[in-house]
Amino acid sequence: MKASTETLEAPALSVPEAQACILDRITPLDAEEVGLGRALGRALAEEVHANRDLPPYDVSAMDGYAVCAADIREAPRTLQVIEDIKAGDTPRLSLQSGQCARIMTGAPLPPGADAVVRVEDTRPLENDLVEFPIPVKPATDIRLRGENMRQGDVVLHPGEEITPGTIGVLATVKRAKVKVVRQPRVAILSNGDELEALDEPFDPHKIPDSNSHALMAQVQALGIEPALLGIARDKPDELANFIKRGLEYDVLLISGGTSVGVHDHVRPTLAALGVAIHFWRVEMRPGHPVAFGASNRTLVFCLPGNPVSSMVCFEQLVLPALRRLMGHNRLFRRTIPARLTQAVKSRQGRVEFIRATLSRDPSGACAATPTASQSSGDILSMMRADALLAVPSERNGLAPDEIAQVQLLDASAWQHTPDT
Ligand code: AMP
Ligand code: MG
Repeated sequence: MKASTETLEAPALSVPEAQACILDRITPLDAEEVGLGRALGRALAEEVHANRDLPPYDVSAMDGYAVCAADIREAPRTLQVIEDIKAGDTPRLSLQSGQCARIMTGAPLPPGADAVVRVEDTRPLENDLVEFPIPVKPATDIRLRGENMRQGDVVLHPGEEITPGTIGVLATVKRAKVKVVRQPRVAILSNGDELEALDEPFDPHKIPDSNSHALMAQVQALGIEPALLGIARDKPDELANFIKRGLEYDVLLISGGTSVGVHDHVRPTLAALGVAIHFWRVEMRPGHPVAFGASNRTLVFCLPGNPVSSMVCFEQLVLPALRRLMGHNRLFRRTIPARLTQAVKSRQGRVEFIRATLSRDPSGACAATPTASQSSGDILSMMRADALLAVPSERNGLAPDEIAQVQLLDASAWQHTPDT
């Protein structure tokens, strides 16, 4: 109990201090092998090498004619077609001066050819003769052997996220299975006498437990299927039983009951179960009363009960932690600069994460508009937000037209219309 009393008196951490405190304690989980069909979104746990040159030989980049460029240094010129070469064929004949071969995209160049003329730039004549009205330079429309990758090249590194493009590369180098970092096992627990579970009958005096489900979805967005432990009432014994179950997982997320109210039992209960609390309170809004601790095997995040605070704390503190456990190199949401369409209020000394929608200003640049409500209880405003706009702690609000950094939330990876 002494340790947690000291933590109580310790000053609140800044967001970067809190992130560093968490991340310093985390190394990626061990690796496992998965089939390509299960690998999307995971982090690679091995180096992957090219198993052949690609293209495997010099190939045509166009449907057209393989020629000796010296034959068509001056145009027009007429050449004799001696062979048809499709992708996957092996050319049988060498080109001699005055000859060409009809060739398809990706087909190997015949010996003697050093350029391809696309079919649109030619004119077919009778008796397999073709006219070339335009001069051609050597190497035109040829892809050289090994131009894309060379056998033995490192094509993927550990820690890279497996995207659809990565899956294409893995299939190209014939990797049906790949080593990835295993997914963390995550448990979610809500805490509060006032909470009503989704499957409980409607009671006008109760507060619906939305945090369990919003947190579950935030975790699922990382490809992890979390366990919902349910709702622990504000009773130390009951809470302790739930927490004991949660401490069997890699990560335990607890929402509610972390503050200093007489019914807030989470931190003392954790301490009694041997969880060292590494910090409590972070200079951020929403989300100030957030705590982080760890037992031998479990990272424990105590998130504030207010629905928006819980989600914003997940974004800032839990998301990078889960991504590091998952083995990813890139831990944080992408940020982009956006111009404010209106003033934003904030208090100096803590970062404020303002929920905002994004649009384009007349110059085409990104513009951010705060959602109408910034109340930490207003889950609708979180639903509407495309981004979280971080007002730095040294600022006392921001003026219209100022440029601020916005963290793109998942939904903003999509937009309504194409830019092109
Ligand atoms: P607490 O952090 O326990 O003081 O709770 C702060 C506020 O968040 C209170 O109004 C709670 O009713 C609300 N709250 C706590 N847990 C949840 C939850 N799981 N879902 C929705 N609201 C919650
Ligand atoms: Mg409570």
